[in-house]
Amino acid sequence: MTIDLRTPSHGVVMPDKDRRFTDEEHPFEAMMSRFDRAAELLGLSEGMYRVLRMPEKQLIVAVPVLMDNGEIQVFEGFRVLYNTSRGPAKGGIRFDMQVTLEEVKALAAWMTWKCAVVNIPFGGAKGGVRCDPLGMSIGELERLTRRYTAGIIGFLGPDSDVPAPDVNTNERVMAWIMDTYSMHARHTVTAVVTGKPVAMGGSLGRREATGRGCMLVTKEALAQIGRPVHGATVAVQGFGNVGSVAADLLCREGCSIVAIGDRTSAYYNPRGINITSALAHAARTGSLAGFPDAETIGHEELLALDVDVLVPAALENVITRKNAAQIRAKIVCEGANGPTSAGADKILDEKGVFVIPDILANAGGVTVSYFEWVQDRAGYFWAEDVVNDRLGEIMIRSFHDVLKLAREHQVNLRTASYMLAIERVSTMHQLRGVYA
Ligand code: NAD
Repeated sequence: MTIDLRTPSHGVVMPDKDRRFTDEEHPFEAMMSRFDRAAELLGLSEGMYRVLRMPEKQLIVAVPVLMDNGEIQVFEGFRVLYNTSRGPAKGGIRFDMQVTLEEVKALAAWMTWKCAVVNIPFGGAKGGVRCDPLGMSIGELERLTRRYTAGIIGFLGPDSDVPAPDVNTNERVMAWIMDTYSMHARHTVTAVVTGKPVAMGGSLGRREATGRGCMLVTKEALAQIGRPVHGATVAVQGFGNVGSVAADLLCREGCSIVAIGDRTSAYYNPRGINITSALAHAARTGSLAGFPDAETIGHEELLALDVDVLVPAALENVITRKNAAQIRAKIVCEGANGPTSAGADKILDEKGVFVIPDILANAGGVTVSYFEWVQDRAGYFWAEDVVNDRLGEIMIRSFHDVLKLAREHQVNLRTASYMLAIERVSTMHQLRGVYA
């Protein structure tokens, strides 16, 4: 095996200048524009505003990996702990070519507000490595994961920073992180990550939790606009972990899922799509491409369908200033993180669309991650219906907490969610005081 050290820059993956964010905003500033509005309405003090606008810790690590061909590649890895005033930092790790510090900062702040909205005792974090995981072997991915874990190990721990899966990472990656951390700790520490395999301390119900949360808040929203759940029409963009489970559970509740789509294609059937056969098709072929019994439509067409509920559960920035005026759904349930750009918010408001914002709508995943952490620490594991019942309590209570605040302040649910979250985080800071 040869290790080529002659050209130190060889294999270094260069940043891709926020290519993912094609709309008007910068990810951190887009998120912060919502924060600013909520902070102003809350009358947040200038000092607290300064505290909450700054990430607590930002770490950039070089991740050298011996590739299968004998060469060393060096990847750039990040971990940002945005705020830990309410508890250990919580947030996923993504492996993606688009990862930048700016993106990780925005996502870490998002996690802080999300945990606070559902009132679980966690702060917010996010991490990532800029790499192309789909072009790597399992061995390369394992070495990348373990070296990145070693690089950020000073942050990690069940009481300080607890990662979870995100884009292109999964329960296998979590198992490697848990093992690497445990080797350094010299004993097994299952609670250092969530989203693990159930066989090694993962929680029942975690895989379905985000989609289940979307289903639960969608039902509450339908009740608010006076539409029966039975027969409500739904379009779902994204048929992965979040979208497929949300579609399946909403269908089981009696909704008619008239459109589904993934990165390959989108399908429409006004009589309702058979979700069981769509799930089987995706499991068999790896995507929705070629799904029978429905008409093929464009991705933009799916978003603009005249339905009761639209669930964007794929990517960020799919509803922007450019297409917001075409949205005809009465309810938008944001399964994805950041599917609506800051510029589109106002347009949807003016159209009277009932938007269930991401930090509330997709908080089911982090809520069951919290349950997983609790179970690991207690060494006592709950039955799946106990997990689902407790998730239901938290999601429905949080929806009504946000709705109440929205009505009191005459604002939309997004602003109310931020207000609730900021209020909870700033209360904790005030009670703790400024350590000097
Ligand atoms: P996933 O990788 O399982 O699924 C993503 C889906 O989106 C796939 O079906 C993919 O084909 C589809 N997609 C990709 N590009 C598309 C495009 N251009 N047009 C239409 N569809 C496209 O991911 P996931 O875990 O379901 O996550 C989806 C979103 O939800 C992300 O924004 C993620 O951050 C967010 N989220 C996930 C969780 C979770 O627990 N998995 C929790 C909170 C938020």
